Amino acid sequence: MKLRNVFLAASFAASLTVFAGNPKYVFYMIGDGMGMGAVSAAQGFLNAVDGDGAMLQMLQMPVASMSQTYSASSPVTDSAAAGTALACGHKTRNGMLGMDADTVAVQSIAARFHDNGFGVGLVTTVAPDDATPGAFYAHVPRRSMYYEIGCDAARSGYEFIGGANLRGAKNTDLMARLADAGVDVVRGREAAAKSTSRRVMMLNTDSVKKNNVGYTIDSIAGVLTLADLTESCLKHLMRVSPDGFFMMVEGGTIDHAAHSNDAATVVMQTLDFDRSIGLVRQFAASHPGEALIVVTADHETGGMGMASLRHHYNQRLDLLAHQRMSKDAFAEWTSSVIKSGNAPAWEDMKGELARRVGLFGAVAVDEADEEALKALYETTLSHMGGDKKSTLYSSFDRFTDKVYDLMSALTGVGWTTGDHSGAVVPVFAEGEGLQLFAPAQDNVDIPVKIMKAVGL
Ligand SMILES: [Zn+2]
Repeated sequence: MKLRNVFLAASFAASLTVFAGNPKYVFYMIGDGMGMGAVSAAQGFLNAVDGDGAMLQMLQMPVASMSQTYSASSPVTDSAAAGTALACGHKTRNGMLGMDADTVAVQSIAARFHDNGFGVGLVTTVAPDDATPGAFYAHVPRRSMYYEIGCDAARSGYEFIGGANLRGAKNTDLMARLADAGVDVVRGREAAAKSTSRRVMMLNTDSVKKNNVGYTIDSIAGVLTLADLTESCLKHLMRVSPDGFFMMVEGGTIDHAAHSNDAATVVMQTLDFDRSIGLVRQFAASHPGEALIVVTADHETGGMGMASLRHHYNQRLDLLAHQRMSKDAFAEWTSSVIKSGNAPAWEDMKGELARRVGLFGAVAVDEADEEALKALYETTLSHMGGDKKSTLYSSFDRFTDKVYDLMSALTGVGWTTGDHSGAVVPVFAEGEGLQLFAPAQDNVDIPVKIMKAVGL
């Protein structure tokens, strides 16, 4: 009975409070794992391939500042503690979501916007019950409590939540709870556009891949991009809450690719995130004086640097354009050809590498590197599945790992870790209240400043 009242309360929108001169459309763009290295590599890639002065959308914004990211339990934050800081303005321990360090639930700015009559939309390229989006509606001591996180999503009353797939729905009543709360759960952008519900949850068309919608570099037909999700969310909010809304857009897979130390995929996912920033900037330009856009990252991933021990002054980020597959997709392919019993002989594998990654093609490989690669190919052939290198989201055979290591080394990208780092992250701002974000800040200050900008 108590729960039902919560649902009923959430299904009626409060009257909107917008103060004259304050923005009524607020966009919070979070590049998961997008440190200075990812931004520099994406811009460096544009410089190297275009050379016509093309600038990232985020680098065109008038305020460019930075933020610290440490959590209550470590100088190196995880996405749960960082999400809580960015959503709720509280430092917490790694792994905790929407709760302070003493396990007391804390409110997010999305909930405060909603209480004040604003529409709320959250979209991400990873699962909508993942840490960053979850921090805007869930209150759990562990980020892996997907069922409880899903129940909090149902309870939130938010108008739009979009991402890959829900992980808490297997063998639970979560889908029924979402339906009871009036949430229309749809797959793909056409279905989202057709929904007449006030509350929509938009998931990927592919219900198998749980962690993310897929990398753009793998060109998987029909999968959602962040731009698709952003556009669908924007259209929905303009339909159900045209007088004011808050939207959080997460580029979630930048982090996954950086955990894998896969430079080209980090660049492509950062560009995908940047396209969504472009869409939002276009919206803001057509609503002058009414919008605020804040772009930041929850933390840096990979200790990604714009140099390697091998390249000296010959950084060649343009060569990353020859990589046609993410490290994850290449590892899957390697594993499948080995399992099929038809693994190519080394000379044929070199042709595959040229076609799939660029090595032995556009990216020259010397004799010593070839020897090392060939040796790892042979050991991987003989004990596939034996010796693997695991990251937070994937596990790679040693051959695949070396292929991508070499791509980074030879193009001029360095890595210090397969985890996060404690480096400062960028903060960009544009629109009403932008000057609040100009001084260097701490991640917990950002949501406080957003609420100050809107006068709530
Ligand atoms: Zn991460």
